[in-house]
Amino acid sequence: MTKTPIAIYDTTLRDGTQGSGMSLSVEDKVQIARKLDELRFDYIEGGWPGSNPKDIEFFQKIQHVPLSYARIAAFGSTRKKDTPAENDANLRLLIESNAPVVTIFGKSSPFQVAEALQTTPEENLRMISDSVKFLGQHGREVIYDAEHFFDGYLQDREYALCTLRSAFAAGARYLVLCDTNGGTDFARLAEIVRDVRQQFPSGRLGIHTHNDMGYGVANTLTAVFEGAEMVQGTINGIGERVGNANLVTITANLFKNQIPTKGNIDVAQLKNLSGLVYELANLPPDIRQPYVGDAAFAHKGGVHVDAVLKNPRLYEHIDPAAVGNQRHFLISDLAGTAHVQALEGLGIMKKDALAREIVEKIKRLEHEGYVFEAAEGSLELLVRSARGEKTSIFDLIEYRTDVLRKSEGKLESCAIVRIRVNGQEVTQMAYGDGPVNALDLALRSALTSKYPELAELRLDDYKVRIIPSDNRPEQKGTGAKVRVLIESKLGAKRFGTVGVDENIVEASWHALVESFNYAHLLIRSSNSRA
Ligand SMILES: [Zn+2]
Repeated sequence: MTKTPIAIYDTTLRDGTQGSGMSLSVEDKVQIARKLDELRFDYIEGGWPGSNPKDIEFFQKIQHVPLSYARIAAFGSTRKKDTPAENDANLRLLIESNAPVVTIFGKSSPFQVAEALQTTPEENLRMISDSVKFLGQHGREVIYDAEHFFDGYLQDREYALCTLRSAFAAGARYLVLCDTNGGTDFARLAEIVRDVRQQFPSGRLGIHTHNDMGYGVANTLTAVFEGAEMVQGTINGIGERVGNANLVTITANLFKNQIPTKGNIDVAQLKNLSGLVYELANLPPDIRQPYVGDAAFAHKGGVHVDAVLKNPRLYEHIDPAAVGNQRHFLISDLAGTAHVQALEGLGIMKKDALAREIVEKIKRLEHEGYVFEAAEGSLELLVRSARGEKTSIFDLIEYRTDVLRKSEGKLESCAIVRIRVNGQEVTQMAYGDGPVNALDLALRSALTSKYPELAELRLDDYKVRIIPSDNRPEQKGTGAKVRVLIESKLGAKRFGTVGVDENIVEASWHALVESFNYAHLLIRSSNSRA
């Protein structure tokens, strides 16, 4: 199949920021824009200058950032009713943004026009046409987003096509059909795109979908198969409600289907891009995200692991490296002996007697409530100590935590840590936002007095789980065991450590200690490599 290369239009910085829990600073937005440019996305929609000052600031900043490929787009609505385009404040802001591309959205049916704009269908057509013309006269590349197009088409096909004709005749470079509320089924969407395609043989169509029916990606690909030449979406599918079409999945699917993208997007960096956006948005990555999630190429069941070691194609639809991901073997008590081979990455060979010993130990710990899938730090420490390496950087003499609640409800937590490090005794006390935080701060200051490089270690996430104890009814409720999982960050490296105990402070202590021990190990091995 020969196919026109597809233009990729990213709206993470505009539609994406409408997502719940999603917030990006101007600097974050610039950083994401640079990355999208590096991967050769065609368009980067930076925001809606008419909607907030932060977006205006972004357009000011990005003008001084040299981009090698991508074009910056500003987003806004058509002119107000009964107002000449040159007097329209919103259109003026779009020009002042200095973005070389402007995307404007307009209404697609007489119903939407009457309800939302309270004007006539004819005036709406003039609003579209005037706005596109005005922006074109100011030297902008204009993209027309037909808002609620599919709903509009079903309400009044003729009128919906008229709105597109107005934009096309006025010079819009792309006519983008938007499934704004994400409620269109792909079979119906295919029919509509096919019809529009026939009506505009010389026009270029685009597609903008949302994921409300779980069809964001499917609808986008459907439109591409029907001839759309531009796709709009967001990185990781973040966006309003359940989100936009996910451009990470879409670009990977295009690659897999051998449909070229205009910029020949560097899909080997998709994992990296996805991680950057999660990181800056301060959102937890979805481990089950297609192509780029940590679990996307993770193998757990013994039979699967065995087969993948023989030939990865048996349980993998694509080479993980193609999208910058990695194959993982999960250590688990589902494990057959094949898992032992997965330890090879840590230098333990299947034949080694040690391999069996380690797997037995892992199984025993898992029975006690440990999980190692998200705790590679603890796992590596376990393997190294089984190999006879010293992994601990200090000895505990004692710790103590106190929580004091005053009558007015004010809480105060403090911790004292006494350790022996390099033959010397160190005692530190710290206050914190809770006993575990106080313990972390006290241990941190005790250790950094001897290992200043550990100051870089950050505790990033802290999760507590009650371990189900079906066969031990006396341990239900507050008497049950808890598992604490700590995620730490050292520079760009993230890793997990785990602790289990009946006492939540002790479980946390265990995970904390492993975090410091493992960080020390990472620093030492990166120094010896340098
Ligand atoms: Zn949208």
